[in-house]
Amino acid sequence: MDDLIRRAVEDLAAAKNVAALTGAGISIESGIPPFRGKGGIWERFDPMEFAHIDALMRDPAKVWRILVKEMKEIVDSAKPNDGHKGLAKLEARDKIKTIITQNIDGLHQAAGNTDVIEYHGTFAWQRCMDCNQKYETRKVDISEIPPRCECGGILRPDAVFFGEVIPAEAMWRSRQAAAGCDLMLVVGTSAVVQPAAMIPVIAKDNGARIVEINPERTPLTDEISDYLIMGGAGEVINQIVTALEKM
Ligand SMILES: [Zn+2]
Repeated sequence: MDDLIRRAVEDLAAAKNVAALTGAGISIESGIPPFRGKGGIWERFDPMEFAHIDALMRDPAKVWRILVKEMKEIVDSAKPNDGHKGLAKLEARDKIKTIITQNIDGLHQAAGNTDVIEYHGTFAWQRCMDCNQKYETRKVDISEIPPRCECGGILRPDAVFFGEVIPAEAMWRSRQAAAGCDLMLVVGTSAVVQPAAMIPVIAKDNGARIVEINPERTPLTDEISDYLIMGGAGEVINQIVTALEKM
């Protein structure tokens, strides 16, 4: 077994309270493209034109037609991969308590994790811009765009748009989770985007071990992370969880 995988298994076995911080890298294997970086959604769509709250307010039909409809098609058919499933197994074994995610695809909940802090809200649900009623995205009929609530109001993703603030409860709870854990898995994120970038720092300052799982080095590597296991999230997590289950 790879030395770093063995080290992670031992660290997980010894840990009492594990938290995970996840990003786009864990969902790539589920067919969800990242927003930022190479091949990302923002290479094709100008976020200021389609993902800013002002754009949504000005012309919701346009935002739906160009961006939201395509994302709905991607997210509706996406399934959790070995990365999500492995983190769910760690919760089932009473290891992981909380997942803090920058993703909006709802795949951690689909895998079975029950305490998921969604920093940027969720695309798995839509909410009415008038009465706030929520609808599961995959059940929303988009034969007419923009889709509407029973009350006639326009539906919008329950996700954080540019120009909107991170939900205060998500901020507060993720700081609590970071400060309280003794091991943090940082998976599929370079954690360069604030305020999520603070989360591993808070965990480290409170004495937690930071185990990074990423395909390449990030600004966290050597600075904040105790070690980096280089690789795809699904494969690495699968190896760790399989080895842990054999202990
Ligand atoms: Zn409504």
